[in-house]
Order: sequence, then structure tokens, then C-alpha cells
Amino acid sequence: MRTILEPARQIDVIHETDVLVVGSGPGGLSAALAAARAGVEVCLVERYGCFGGNITAVGVEGMHWYRHEATVESDGIAREFENAAKDAGFAVPESQSLSYEIDSEGFKLVADRMVEEAGIHAMLHRSFVAPIMEGNRITGIITESKAGREAILAKVVVDATGDADVAHRAGAPTSKAPREDLMAASVMFHVAGLDKARFVEGIKQDPQTYADWGGGGEWNIETTGKEDSMFSPFLHKPFAQAIKAGMIPAHLNTIAGTWGAAHDTGELTYMNLIHLANCDGTDPDDLTANEIEGRRQAMLAIEALRAYTPGCENIRLRNFGMTLGIRDTRKVDTNYIMTETDVREQARFDDSIGIFPEFIDGYGVLILPTTGRYFEIPYRNLLPKKIKGLLVSGRATGGEKIAHAATRNMACCAVIGQGAGIAAALATKSNAELDAVDITAIQQELKRQGARAH
Ligand SMILES: Cc1cc2nc3c(=O)[nH]c(=O)nc-3n(C[C@H](O)[C@H](O)[C@H](O)COP(=O)(O)OP(=O)(O)OC[C@H]3O[C@@H](n4cnc5c(N)ncnc54)[C@H](O)[C@@H]3O)c2cc1C
Repeated sequence: MRTILEPARQIDVIHETDVLVVGSGPGGLSAALAAARAGVEVCLVERYGCFGGNITAVGVEGMHWYRHEATVESDGIAREFENAAKDAGFAVPESQSLSYEIDSEGFKLVADRMVEEAGIHAMLHRSFVAPIMEGNRITGIITESKAGREAILAKVVVDATGDADVAHRAGAPTSKAPREDLMAASVMFHVAGLDKARFVEGIKQDPQTYADWGGGGEWNIETTGKEDSMFSPFLHKPFAQAIKAGMIPAHLNTIAGTWGAAHDTGELTYMNLIHLANCDGTDPDDLTANEIEGRRQAMLAIEALRAYTPGCENIRLRNFGMTLGIRDTRKVDTNYIMTETDVREQARFDDSIGIFPEFIDGYGVLILPTTGRYFEIPYRNLLPKKIKGLLVSGRATGGEKIAHAATRNMACCAVIGQGAGIAAALATKSNAELDAVDITAIQQELKRQGARAH
């Protein structure tokens, strides 16, 4: 491949802060809020025009769909997101759980308000492009935007990009499964024009359960058995019928999945039906091809729903998520790697920064937290090897496959983020290295902020 030499240049330092969070998904937004509430200056950088990450940019509305009567979970910022959305009128009861489905558009406003109230310095429309390094210490980042390249300096940087962009470019060791083993990507969409009464009646006549999950791709699963007879808002039959009728090509038997919420106003939202294998979310060529292919498949799915699902006869596309949804890319080699045993067997850690119920969803496993079992996440899981001044939050934290199927969930990312934000704040306040922050102080601040460490 031909190369060119990019010339060095002098750029402006546009901002200096205590804690700089890059990426504003559940893992980043919660980190920024927690750090600000712990009393330090915080800057939150996001490449898109809204905060919220997959919730708002992709349209992933089911943040707590795992919740059942016996579920034990933290009351921290993860729960606050749901409550704030509900209070603002941007959430409706979720169909399969004791939770609320968050309106992906409304959450943009909810997040704006939370960021403002916490006094966070907000920077939308700026992409992280390079770390600023002094030896093996990160001291800030370079962003690219309509204003060109700019520098932001910070005492601590939190990488919440989901893809470990910061850690990777700073030289922290990361790993990524081979393309064919990565969890599928999805083009998410919402439709309008639903006859809700007919749709609900149809679901009542032919309710689906988790045992019905099947149809290829993401949806062939192993459960513990207790999940099998529980209701799931699963759609597979209309697409099987459409394949039989020649409306959908046979190889697209991967079209299947869940609907999120059926609204009184005729929207059916969070349509998680399109699964695109072999897509590496860190390769823009893969992203390009799969955005286009995913949109094509979404229209086939809508056609099938119109033909074979009661109440959907007149639906039309309302919108796609503004970006393809990516589930699985780089994981950082952190000081502790979460294991399958940790998430399946209620791991406990002295340096825990949060708890998450035994909820595993991915790589062919579905376990719902119907029993009160939960695991803890150790602070070491947020500390990248080799690089100082950097914490990882969200789905890029170190973990084996099945561990990722638990920790990637948005509420868990928010739990991790709250711990990351508090640790970052305490490190800057006490001038301590990140790996020397007083764990008891982190746990006390978590408690003060209403979250559980154990
Ligand atoms: C289709 C789909 C369905 C899913 N369904 C569910 C579900 O039902 N329930 C659930 O709990 N989880 C679900 N997940 C998983 C969950 O959405 C993610 O694992 C979770 O959002 C990860 O949170 P995060 O904060 O680490 O990353 P993200 O939510 O991806 O947020 C990362 C943020 O960083 C920003 N960013 C990235 N790179 C840069 C950069 N270079 N510069 C500046 N900003 C940057 C992004 O724009 C984004 O806002 C789903 C995922 C997908 C893709």
C-alpha cells in the first residue's frame, strides 16, 4: 500500500480539565456524571450530536429488559437513566420485564439535562483522533472536527468509546476476536402506522417465548431452562413465511428478533431484527457495506411484517438508527479480565466498584436474572496495562466472551462508568496514580451517590 507522511503541526489547546471522558454512551455518560458529582471538573467529548451512545445513536431502547421480581441490581446512575426518562415522559412499560423502555429520541433531552445539571463541560461533534502522551502517560487527546484539530488536556482520561479507540492508540494492549467470531452488527429501525390493538391481539393469540428463539444468527440460544416458558416479544414466523413465499431470499433466515415497544400513537420501536455477521466495527469499509446491506434487509423485514403480522398492514419506516449498531470489537487487556465463571457464579471482589445481576445475553447464551444472583466488578477491570492516567469504561473493559455477554449490557456499562468516574475524580483530588486510589474511598463515594459496591 502507498503511504504519505502527515506533516506535524502546532495546534491549540482549547480546554484543560481534571477528568476527560471520551464517548457518551452508558459507560461514558455515567462516568462523566459520577466524576462531576464527586466534585471535580469534567469534560465529555462525543463524536455525534447527542449524548447517550447506543441508546440515542443506534436506538437501543431496552436498558433494563432483564428485570424481574427477584432481580438484584444497583440503584446507581443506570437506574437513574430509566427513572429520569420516565419522569420526563420518555419511557413506556417494557413488554417482557418489570422495566421501562427508554425512548431513544427523548433520551437525547434527558441526557442534555443531566449533563447540564452536573456542570459538565460538554463537547459534541468532536471525534477523538489521537492521544497526547508523555512517555507511557496519557495527558490529553487530540480531536478532529469542523474546527480542525484541537487539543484537550486532562489529569485523567476515561476511554468510553466502546471500541477502545483511546486505549488502542495510546498503546495499551487490546484484543479483538476474528471477524467471523464477532457478535453480529445490526441496523436498528423504528416503524410508524401500527394498529396497536390488532398487533397486541395477535401477540395474545400467538405469544412467543424464549424457547421460540431460533432462526439463525444471534437467536439460537442456550438457556438454563427457567427462561424457556417466559414471554418474549420475539418475531420469527413472519420472516419464515416471507422466505417460503419468495419475498425474502432463503439465505436471509437471520432476519428475526425482538420488537421493543408498541406505542398508542402507532409506533413500533426498537426493531432488533437485522443481524449482520462478519462486520468489524473498527473497519470503515465493513461499516459502509453493512450500513447499506442492513438498510436493505430492514425494508425486506418491513415488507414481511406488512404481509404476515396482524396490525402491521400499514406500517412504514419511521427512521433508522443514525448509525449501525456494533456489539463487539476491541477489549482492553486490563489488570483483571472478567471470566465466564465470574458472571455465571456470582464473583465477589474486595475492590468491587459495582454489582450487576446474573444476566447473560450473547454468544448463544441467554440467562435472565430471575433468582437474585448477581456478580461484582473489580476496579482492576478498568485499569489498562502499560498506560498511566487512563481508565476504560463500558463494553471495552477486559472480559472473556461470555463475560462480555454480561458486561456489554447497557446497565452494566453504566455501573462500570459510575465506578470509573468516581475513581478518576478521587485520583485527581488526591494526586494519586489510578492504580493507587483508595478503594474504600471509591466504595464510600459510590454509596454516597446511591450505588452499590457489594
Ligand atoms: C443492535 C444492538 C442491540 C443491543 N441491545 C441491547 C439491549 O437490548 N440491552 C442492552 O443492555 N444492551 C444492548 N446492546 C449492547 C449495548 O448497547 C452496548 O454494549 C452498550 O451501549 C455499550 O456502551 P458503551 O458506553 O461502552 O458504548 P456506546 O454505547 O457504543 O457508546 C460509545 C460512545 O462513544 C462515542 N465514540 C466512539 N468513538 C469515538 C471517538 N473516536 N471520538 C468521540 N466519540 C466516540 C460514540 O459515538 C458513542 O456515543 C445492544 C447493542 C446493539 C448494537
